[in-house]
Amino acid sequence: MIEVKNLSVKYQNIEALSSVNFKVEAGDYIGIVGPNGSGKTTLVKALLGLVSFEGKIVFQGESLSRFTLHKHIGYLPQKMSFLDQRFPATAKEIVVSGVYCCKKFPKRLTKEDYAAAEAIMKTLKITSLKDRPIGKLSGGQQQRVLLARSLVHSPSVLILDEPTIALDPQSRETFYETVQKLNKEKHVTVLLVSHDIASVGKYASKLLYLDRQVIFYGTFEEFCKSPRMSEYFGVSQHLICHRH
Ligand code: ADP
Repeated sequence: MIEVKNLSVKYQNIEALSSVNFKVEAGDYIGIVGPNGSGKTTLVKALLGLVSFEGKIVFQGESLSRFTLHKHIGYLPQKMSFLDQRFPATAKEIVVSGVYCCKKFPKRLTKEDYAAAEAIMKTLKITSLKDRPIGKLSGGQQQRVLLARSLVHSPSVLILDEPTIALDPQSRETFYETVQKLNKEKHVTVLLVSHDIASVGKYASKLLYLDRQVIFYGTFEEFCKSPRMSEYFGVSQHLICHRH
């Protein structure tokens, strides 16, 4: 579905990604992990067409030119990074605003857009929140509203960048269970950026370990057995795998 070939990204003199290669199959759930500064967000930006890069990103056989992936991708950043708690909108208004990504001018909302918002809110079991002001919802509820917003245009790929960083452990589990259901039942391909390898190992079908380059790409079980990763981590690899 997505093929990344020899992807390199430079910011002035910093090489954030160097010759990254991997393939995403439709229906995959890929956890993208790695230390701070390892290029995870840069990889997401490249997929969203927000940074210039060398190499190729191919989506369903077509080479990516800037911005063309938008209608195929749902993107959920870290909650706190963009939600203003005082923003005067209801949950449903936030959800429906997700369709603007894919509309041509004049960008008017239609009955179908509101129906799509209602439908995704039902799937995510947040219909009861629809008329509540966004700022009055709990962190977990807000993140589900934003998840609905990223899915309202029915993308085939969902990209999540540290989506549960501001959530308590229980809301985090519920959130990941919802994403797993979307992957299993609605066949949404998921790319999840996280620093928490144990959580990723629990839900993702594959793990991509980045450190400017691809250090590892395979299943969590292969990750745990990989001699290369033992060398890379020393003892801590076993701690991560043990927790799982
Ligand atoms: P991660 O998401 O894994 O923490 P990033 O992709 O944010 O990593 O960053 C990778 C490297 O690129 C880091 O060294 C970071 O400082 C650098 N970097 C990221 N964004 C910029 C930018 N806009 N300008 C210059 N350097 C950047």
